[in-house]
Amino acid sequence: MSSKRIKKASKLGANYSRDFNLSSNLRVLVDIGFAKKTSILKLDVIEKINSMLNINCELYTTSCLLKECELIGHILQKTHDVMNTFNLIKCNHKYNPKIGAVKCVSRYLQLWSGAATADNVKTEDRHHLGEIRFWSLATTDKELITIGKNTVGLPLFFLSYSCIQLLSYGKASENYLKKKQLDILNNVVSIWLYLLDLSCIQY
Ligand SMILES: [Zn+2]
Repeated sequence: MSSKRIKKASKLGANYSRDFNLSSNLRVLVDIGFAKKTSILKLDVIEKINSMLNINCELYTTSCLLKECELIGHILQKTHDVMNTFNLIKCNHKYNPKIGAVKCVSRYLQLWSGAATADNVKTEDRHHLGEIRFWSLATTDKELITIGKNTVGLPLFFLSYSCIQLLSYGKASENYLKKKQLDILNNVVSIWLYLLDLSCIQY
């Protein structure tokens, strides 16, 4: 990867840390397409993400994705073997071929996004949320990329020119951050108006 791309990814990673509490341990949910292509390209996903963001990461898959891989058959046998080495998220439902794994993965994304933006977390819940807070997605699926762009605070890895890249903030994250800044500004203005009011009463 060129030094320009590494610099851009590092800057983006720093932004995620600042804006969404991205920790130094990142869990990456890998879909079938991403696992297949990186395996063909012989890319070491953990090593690449580490060099891009200077972050430790672990690869995960879901039981739905594994099942879908199995059902497609021998064409994806090698991909299935690779994904079998990842950590497993056991879905608490039966795989439904009519719905497919994308629907299931998109539900996880919503859950993780909620955790990434949870500002008012009770102290006793922090550890639990901390466990699910630092997730990201690695995908080649167009539908999942669109969903990822619309998910607040979710780092998304994709493939371009045989390289792993980190997607820039989507509109959802940008709008969330703008609203957060506006809320802070409104609070400051409210405090100033309150103090001004107090000083008027005193005189
Ligand atoms: Zn599932």
